[in-house]
Amino acid sequence: MTKNITIAHGNGGEENNELIKSIFYKHFENDILAKSEDAAVIEDGKLAFTTDSFTVSPLFFPGGDIGKLAVCGTCNDLAMMGAKPKYMTCSVIIEEGFSTRELEKIVRSMKKELEINGAIVVSGDTKVVPKGAVDQLFINTTGIGQIEHKGITASGIKEGMSILVSRDIGAHGATIFAAREGIELESALETDCASLYPQVKALIDSGINIVAMRDATRGGVSAVLNEWAKSSDVCVEVKEESIPVQEEVQGICEMLGFEAVDLANEGTFVLAVSKEEESKALKVLQRTHTTSAVIATVSEQYKARVILNTSWGTKRFLDLPTGELLPRIC
Ligand code: MG
Repeated sequence: MTKNITIAHGNGGEENNELIKSIFYKHFENDILAKSEDAAVIEDGKLAFTTDSFTVSPLFFPGGDIGKLAVCGTCNDLAMMGAKPKYMTCSVIIEEGFSTRELEKIVRSMKKELEINGAIVVSGDTKVVPKGAVDQLFINTTGIGQIEHKGITASGIKEGMSILVSRDIGAHGATIFAAREGIELESALETDCASLYPQVKALIDSGINIVAMRDATRGGVSAVLNEWAKSSDVCVEVKEESIPVQEEVQGICEMLGFEAVDLANEGTFVLAVSKEEESKALKVLQRTHTTSAVIATVSEQYKARVILNTSWGTKRFLDLPTGELLPRIC
């Protein structure tokens, strides 16, 4: 561990994991935390419980704002454990001088997103700090959900299973970058930020046995696949050309030297199901996004690794993202 915290320690990748392990896990260690799922499963598997803080810059961006993100982020982590989001807290840290009109606009978009989830804010906190102590507005939300599909876990993935993505990837990261840098896009590129519970409910209602499910936020799809390969001690074999990426996102990646698999998403998830349920699951996902796709299979070729089979017939390991990609993405 380095002597001081760097921006890379918040990247959702390698350094972030090191920070969590060497400081937080060390002192907070317990069986529930050790599972390191999207949300903690508590009360004999009845409830999911999670928290998230939002520091995105800029506060408003194409397709969303910090308020929408703050509800989606927490509710999605509950949904990823097969839970229906129910109760939330909302804590804000506001910089002195911030516009009340903008604050209300943000709270209004939180309300809209809460309605999609059927969740309510039942507790909150407001702090105002002197100018310069925070940048405009930070939000923390904590959520509790009722588990409707038990047994979803990153450690349940086995050889022969299929891995799908719910839509084309990388839109949030690319949108925030473009908004921050003032890049004028001719296209209508916008964040994928969305509440995932309706899609999860559709999967549950269609009787699909969800093995693992995770929203591909910081660290992108490559972080999810690496976490799963490690947790389940399997090899995830990705077929590069099957990964859906919008042309605009690809363009921004080329401009920056990024890979779409490393970019953050805020309304895109990765799903693991048995091979037998692959096409049924894909059909359910395609009702919401026609771009959803099967991107990988699970083997035992290399334990705890992710392999990218490229369109040129070559193979390489796909590792956890390292370094600082885009800070304050969420
Ligand atoms: Mg998550």
